[in-house]
Amino acid sequence: MTPAQLLKRKRYWQKVLGLEHWSVCVHAVLDETLDGEGTFGRLVVNGTTLEADVYVALGGERTDEQGERTLRHELLHLLLHDLTVEHRQVCECLGTEAQELARRRWLAVDERAVEHLNRMLDVVCPAGGA
Ligand SMILES: [Zn+2]
Repeated sequence: MTPAQLLKRKRYWQKVLGLEHWSVCVHAVLDETLDGEGTFGRLVVNGTTLEADVYVALGGERTDEQGERTLRHELLHLLLHDLTVEHRQVCECLGTEAQELARRRWLAVDERAVEHLNRMLDVVCPAGGA
């Protein structure tokens, strides 16, 4: 997948997921991973300005489908961003130890929800379609 194709797919998925009120910049990283440790995507969000940066590793042996799934994965995290913010605000009412436990559990639940939604979208809207 080229950076231009990635940008085109970003526009498609941003529309499908109803994220058009966000300004999303997508960055193609031409290595196999972002960090050499198996990280294929990253999302950086500014909820105040509704701006987000999505980084997607496209290099190495990664297929177009894998690149698109990574893009969609990060956009699904953006879709759930409001829940994450609410969770963080609730956590502020907890003690330090409970905050850390709640934070770790949230990250795991968020990741499972995103992957569940991504698998559903594989079926409903296969990567590369439309
Ligand atoms: Zn994730």
